[in-house]
Amino acid sequence: MIDCGNGVARQLVLADVPLTIIRHIFITHQHSDHNADYGNLIWLAWAAGLRTRVDAWGPPPLEKMTKLFFEMNAYDIETRISNEGRVPIVPLVHVHEIRSNGAVMSDENLKVTAALVDHPPVVPAFGYRFDAPDRSIVFSGDTAPSDNLVRLAQGADVLVHSVMYPAAIDRLVGRVPNAARLKESILAHQTSAEDAGRIAQAAGVKTLVLSHLVPADDPQVTERMWVEAAQSRFHGKVILGRDLLEI
Ligand SMILES: [Zn+2]
Repeated sequence: MIDCGNGVARQLVLADVPLTIIRHIFITHQHSDHNADYGNLIWLAWAAGLRTRVDAWGPPPLEKMTKLFFEMNAYDIETRISNEGRVPIVPLVHVHEIRSNGAVMSDENLKVTAALVDHPPVVPAFGYRFDAPDRSIVFSGDTAPSDNLVRLAQGADVLVHSVMYPAAIDRLVGRVPNAARLKESILAHQTSAEDAGRIAQAAGVKTLVLSHLVPADDPQVTERMWVEAAQSRFHGKVILGRDLLEI
């Protein structure tokens, strides 16, 4: 699982992925749209029957968050262990905090590598590369255009990149009272669809998936506008991400 935003357990079930087979969780950075359901995912999986080890990888304070989450929900957890005969959940979860570029983990199926990306002021924030026997997939996390990410994504089959549409940001932030600060933050830590295309081209990937659309719900920014913006700089295949999309 890469990132755990709101509703991630429900989305997994809708994607026909049983919660009980979750093995590894990778958090790109500690922002609520990427971690709000981190603890919930593990907890709900356990309530659904998970009995096996889960490794969680991500930036600090992942260890503290995990500990406090279990503490907050100790009443339910202890009740279900004593009342329903479940295995203790705490020993199942192994947390690994990541602070720098490099190898994260590998097993017989998968090699995972992290790269620091550019998400001020959220430090560290990571992109991840997953090399499997049949293909390689890179997730940017949230980032401004990042040279580290270009290096990480060299020759990958698929690059999933977060994108913004700068011309629509004023309309997006116009809905909130902290518009000026929010706009400044978004522009500093997101990548335009054009730049995502440029990065995909520089990395030589085969397919670019536009994800984490900012804004996601502006009728004035059509699917075609997103895709054409990326295609203006990238000659490979461009796919506009959406919930439950399979590639
Ligand atoms: Zn973020």
